[in-house]
Amino acid sequence: MPDPRSDQTPVAPPFQKPTLMIPGPTPVPPAVLQTLSTPMINHRGPEYEALSSELLANLKEVFQTSGETMIFPAAGTGGLESAVVNVLSPGDRVLSVSIGAFGDRFADIAAAYGAEVTRCTFEWGQAADPDTVKKHLSEGPFKAVLVTLNETSTGVLNDLAALTPPVKEHGALLLVDAISGLIAADLPMDELGVDVVVAGSQKAFMIPPGLTFLAVNDAALEAHKAAKMPRFYFDWTKMLKSQEKNQTPYTPALTLEFGLRQTLRAILEEGLPNSFKRHERMARATRKAAQALDLQLLASDHFSPAVTAVRAPEGIEIKAIRSRLKDEYGVDVAGGQGKLLGKIFRIGHLGYITPPDLAVTFAALERTLADLGHPVDPGKAVATLTEELDRKE
Ligand SMILES: *Cc1c(COP(=O)(O)O)cnc(C)c1O
Repeated sequence: MPDPRSDQTPVAPPFQKPTLMIPGPTPVPPAVLQTLSTPMINHRGPEYEALSSELLANLKEVFQTSGETMIFPAAGTGGLESAVVNVLSPGDRVLSVSIGAFGDRFADIAAAYGAEVTRCTFEWGQAADPDTVKKHLSEGPFKAVLVTLNETSTGVLNDLAALTPPVKEHGALLLVDAISGLIAADLPMDELGVDVVVAGSQKAFMIPPGLTFLAVNDAALEAHKAAKMPRFYFDWTKMLKSQEKNQTPYTPALTLEFGLRQTLRAILEEGLPNSFKRHERMARATRKAAQALDLQLLASDHFSPAVTAVRAPEGIEIKAIRSRLKDEYGVDVAGGQGKLLGKIFRIGHLGYITPPDLAVTFAALERTLADLGHPVDPGKAVATLTEELDRKE
């Protein structure tokens, strides 16, 4: 059956309900979808100023910072580019700490703009080891260090509390890609002393793709004054000057910001600590349920609260699992990226993905694996999942 989001086909049998289980874009709550059809307002008028003022203040809470927050209409990668070009100059030495595809991308952006990038890479599926990072730092000096909070391609969460102190001792700026990590995992930006944090709308923020968010501290703003990389659209000086009047230098993505207003309120009403716990609980239940199906996880520790990477059972192709899940049961899981293509599939459990979605996913996965010849104990994965979701800490 054609997915109703990919064409205009009217509702038709067999009435399959799509269950989107990828680590972004995530599902959007129905009430927020309705908000997305709010009529336009004058983006230079008082209504927008009220909207902008609320969004920037709430973003500060979500980023756990008293620094500046900014919103750019762009994919998350635009936010990473904005971080790089606003604090660095061509020829600056940068240490990239990469544990997967998105860490590599951050480094590639810095290199594309003329930074001299030293790559500290770890095996995909592992977290960055602080001692190895320290060793690389001693070969500095580096102007900045690039780190991913949650590596979406591998389902691994870096330990920023352990990685930040050596970077600060070194005197380098710390730029963090928290696009899939923010709201799912704790990143106390000011407390740790992280200088720039980047996030994106289609991950735990529960709105569609199209906005990227940055939070920057005083040290980043100081570096910005001397930074010489070319930039125009993503320039912080222009954005911050407009923001003083709760305005934007270019037309804001009003529709997405209407949605963001709703989800930020909801996220803060739940409270960040509760959000972290909720994501952690779903992640743990996902791992246990996968293991109940005798599936191996890619990671062995530092598990992501936002996405779980699962290896294929011996003799069964990832492609077969994913297409059967989708075609028969409407469940969409992500494949592997780069060198993990065909080796893993990834189950998202961030944002508006809820425990019942996981139950549907594992019910479908059990059937799918059985259909493909993997021995399955019917009901065991779903029972394990439910048990773990119900378990108190
Ligand atoms: C999704 C994601 C990105 C890329 O975001 P786009 O919106 O596709 O540009 C970058 N880094 C991480 C960690 C992500 O999860």
